[in-house]
Amino acid sequence: MFILKSQETIAKAIERARTIKPHVRAVRFGRYEVSGSTGGFYTVMCYRNRGQKVIDCTCKAGQAGRPCFHGAAAVGLHSYMATTPLAH
Ligand SMILES: [Zn+2]
Repeated sequence: MFILKSQETIAKAIERARTIKPHVRAVRFGRYEVSGSTGGFYTVMCYRNRGQKVIDCTCKAGQAGRPCFHGAAAVGLHSYMATTPLAH
């Protein structure tokens, strides 16, 4: 998992997500499944812990504390759902 301090933290991951265009689906608000670049899906959790935005991805990079494109893709949907009540 990694902490999203600012958009800059995941700027590169967002770029990768834009290139790879993974499939993102919401299991529920805060829990997402994002397709990996080599197939399969990774689970990404987005939540707040003591005021910090935490992104927890099951991929190797995410487990090692590095921002990954799965997390970036999930955050995009998460932010959208947070500001769009009907999307819940
Ligand atoms: Zn990941």
